[in-house]
Amino acid sequence: MIAEKIIDFKKSLPEEVQLIAVSKTKPIALIEDALTCGHLDFGENKVQELVEKHEKMSKEIRWHMIGHLQRNKVKYIAPFVHLIHGVDSERLMNEINKQGKKNNRQISCLLQFHIAQESTKFGFSINEMKSIISDGKHLDWENIVIKGVMGMASFTEDKFKVEQEFVQLKDYFDEIKSLIHNPDEFNTVSMGMSNDYEVAIKNGSNMIRIGSSLFGARQ
Ligand SMILES: *Cc1c(COP(=O)(O)O)cnc(C)c1O
Repeated sequence: MIAEKIIDFKKSLPEEVQLIAVSKTKPIALIEDALTCGHLDFGENKVQELVEKHEKMSKEIRWHMIGHLQRNKVKYIAPFVHLIHGVDSERLMNEINKQGKKNNRQISCLLQFHIAQESTKFGFSINEMKSIISDGKHLDWENIVIKGVMGMASFTEDKFKVEQEFVQLKDYFDEIKSLIHNPDEFNTVSMGMSNDYEVAIKNGSNMIRIGSSLFGARQ
């Protein structure tokens, strides 16, 4: 049932757009159902829940950490996480790099930018990131692959505002791609959720994070 939903949803997307099924708060049985269609990319926003699901489920699943990540919790997900979407500070980057080294792997990350008006949302400013790059600090992160950007638009009915924020994020992506040393690996724009993914795709998203439209509303 959920498997068919995922298949239909994927069919409706342009080919270059990757779907992350956001399974936060949803039980393992439901995710097992989803797996039957061959979909392997799932997103969680809490470290404890992510670790628990990883331990109990198929090791083929590619787990995406989409929520705010605290530095002291990086060590729990570093051995297996597929992509960390919400990297929002240099100190967090340093910690991810350290844990990557410990686990002898390169951890893929997205730079989260603050594009919404709401102060509750996390992220770098473009100037912060530009100075990190011009100082060459990112070159020290040998156990990190910076894959692209992530952002969340304001929670509003105002489609025009949401669109402007997505345009802004895509501009940041293009700007950083032109500055970074490995532009080929920098290829991911993670933007768009159930309410706004169509606007996001129209404005250059190639990775959407969809929860409620697939799994139903959360409690
Ligand atoms: C929960 C969440 C989503 C999915 O939200 P839906 O509106 O249920 O699609 C996407 N991204 C992040 C960062 C989330 O926390």
